[in-house]
Amino acid sequence: MYPKLLIKEDKLRQNLKAVAKIVKEQGGCSLMIVTKALCADPKLIDILVSSSEVDFVADSRIKNVASFSSKVRMAGKKTVLLRIPMMCELAMVAKHVDLCFISEIETIKALDQEAKKLGKVQDVLLMVDLGDLREGVFFKNEGELQETIKTIAEMENINLYGIGVNLTCYGAIIPKNDNLSQLVEIAEKIEREYNVTLSMVSGGNSSSVYLIPKGEMPEGINNLRLGESFLLGNDTAYETKIDGTCDDGLILQAQIVELKEKPSLPIGEVGVDAFGQKPYYEDRGIMKRAIIAVGKQDVDIDSMIPLDERIEIMGGSSDHIILDVTRASEYKLGDIVEFKLGYGGMLKAATSPYVEKVFE
Ligand SMILES: *Cc1c(COP(=O)(O)O)cnc(C)c1O
Repeated sequence: MYPKLLIKEDKLRQNLKAVAKIVKEQGGCSLMIVTKALCADPKLIDILVSSSEVDFVADSRIKNVASFSSKVRMAGKKTVLLRIPMMCELAMVAKHVDLCFISEIETIKALDQEAKKLGKVQDVLLMVDLGDLREGVFFKNEGELQETIKTIAEMENINLYGIGVNLTCYGAIIPKNDNLSQLVEIAEKIEREYNVTLSMVSGGNSSSVYLIPKGEMPEGINNLRLGESFLLGNDTAYETKIDGTCDDGLILQAQIVELKEKPSLPIGEVGVDAFGQKPYYEDRGIMKRAIIAVGKQDVDIDSMIPLDERIEIMGGSSDHIILDVTRASEYKLGDIVEFKLGYGGMLKAATSPYVEKVFE
């Protein structure tokens, strides 16, 4: 059945090796692989647990972590919850999560209670915001940082496993030697003042990888968390390709349901489209237009690239995408058109229940 998201296991294994070579061998960091973009598909988890390179398997959704926790633990690896937890999910966190990212004192106290009920000590990673302005204690708020660390130190069932930062997500701030060095400094200060050892100083996501080959990753960063660079081979700081990776491990396939010659300009008064946008048209005369049965409910139209370079995406709505196939005239009704995906396209296709995920 179509639409189909083909996930090529050999290519993902190749990417895993390539990022591990940089992050672990060259960078001396532990490797945390992030599964959320493929909704922690069990077949993806199998690839990760069978790899000796993966140290942590992480997701932002507790449901996903719960689905893979026993498999990952059995393989001797640790489960991680990336999104700072909701109060309502703390019981599940204590049960399924080995390392929980955190930023709020109240949540830490409540998590301590849940861990106590299970008789366990819960490892947490305190997020520090270095300016991207998503989660974490703001790095200039010394007082809050101190108070949070002090609270954790007082909790019987919480252990401060480390600190971490997230960049290039909300504020699009690029990780550099200078901002990541501030994280290392904060870690060293915590170790000095509280006489503790932090096991992890996590220096970010796929946008931090590029620093390692350039020799600019600060000493002291000892973990990276990778989703997009592993799945699509992208260095997300400067939109280059990471050495040794491929970008076609995930392919979206959709079927042509209509194929007709029509003008390129709509006829009649122009209002707004189905999403409230004013469309823009270019007059290309009569075009050969193909409609494929996949739409904005399943993909991000701006985040998919036809493998056949003669095809151009004209636009789409909830259930249809319109392609200009004038230069690719051999296509027939019922043919399959293939696309490479960007992050948004991958995320939506993997999440849509209407797109069949097929590992091969
Ligand atoms: C999603 C996420 C990642 C992975 O990001 P990529 O850009 O896909 O590598 C890492 N850390 C956190 C906190 C995340 O939410």
